[in-house]
Order: sequence, then C-alpha cells, then structure tokens
Amino acid sequence: MTIIHLKDSPYKLPWTHTYSRGSTPINFIVVHWAGSASSAEQLYRYLQGTRVAVSTGWGVDPTGAYQYLPETRVSYHAGKANKWSVGVDFTQSPLLNDLWRYSSRAGVAVMDNTTGRGDKRCLSIGTEELNHMCELIHFLCDKYNIPMDLPTTTDVLSTPFEKIKGVVCHSHLTNQKWDIAPWWSTLRKAL
Ligand SMILES: [Zn+2]
Repeated sequence: MTIIHLKDSPYKLPWTHTYSRGSTPINFIVVHWAGSASSAEQLYRYLQGTRVAVSTGWGVDPTGAYQYLPETRVSYHAGKANKWSVGVDFTQSPLLNDLWRYSSRAGVAVMDNTTGRGDKRCLSIGTEELNHMCELIHFLCDKYNIPMDLPTTTDVLSTPFEKIKGVVCHSHLTNQKWDIAPWWSTLRKAL
C-alpha cells in the first residue's frame, strides 16, 4: 500500500492553515517540491510546527504518498490557485548541495536544467518517489474526475486559475517559483 489515506496516515495536519472548500470543485492538481524536507514525515513536522500560513494535501517520499489533510479543506500551497486545486509535494530537494542527502536513492543524479527556470544544474527526482507521485496523481484524477491534461512546457500558463483543468506544477502558476520545472518532463512521461 503506497497511498496512505488520512484514516491510516500517521501525519494528520491540524486545519490551522486551511479553509473549507464548500461546493467549489477540484479542477486541478499542483505538484510541488518541498526542498527543505527529505521525507513525508519531515515535511509534516515542519507544516505542523510553522506559523507561516502554508499547508499542502499530500507529501510523497520513497516509502509512499501520505495524506495530510482531507480534500474538503483548501490548503495554502499556491496562492490564489488554492481554491480549485489540491497540492501534492515531493519531499526531495533539487539543489546540487543536497546530493549527499540522497546518495542511496535510485534515480537521484546531477542533471542539466534546460527549462530556463531556476538553477542551470540540479538533481533529478528519485525513482521510488516519482512512482508514488504518479500513483497518487492517477488516484486523485480518477476520484475527482480531473482530466490527465499536462502542459507540454514549464512556462507560466496564461489560463486564469478558475479555468485550469488537469495536472500542473507550481512553476506553471507563477514566475516566482521553479518547482518542479526540471522534473516536469520526467513526471509527464511517467504519467
Ligand atoms: Zn511550490
């Protein structure tokens, strides 16, 4: 079992940095990286303790995909796009300086980042974590009738947030972020 739902999740977040979704539909998934965390547990501990208004629905690591919040709550992961979306986070850093943290993980290596977003060289995403993320995205798309539509580039979308449908990453929503631009084509192919 690699998708750990809230009822079985050891990482249930308080609802502090959330609000009720009401009847607003879930139209898209936003994929992030939480570069300061190396596991779903570490991200959970950070989110649980922080006073910063930040939260996300799921944390993914090489052992599985862990639900933090019910989808009936809107989490604070992507600014004005929160309302129509669910946030899902890789818990791996893309930064070269963090390579030592992942030396035992399959698939993590130095790669060129040709997206024009962020560092020119970075780390690739680990294979196990990628597989769990794909499983989670398929599950959420099935459950909420979200089309498996993924942008072909990592450029910021011109579509207004309320009209987006499908799977995007944070760098599609704002030029202030580059998660997960260098991993986007890998995720897209794996899905
Ligand atoms: Zn992000």
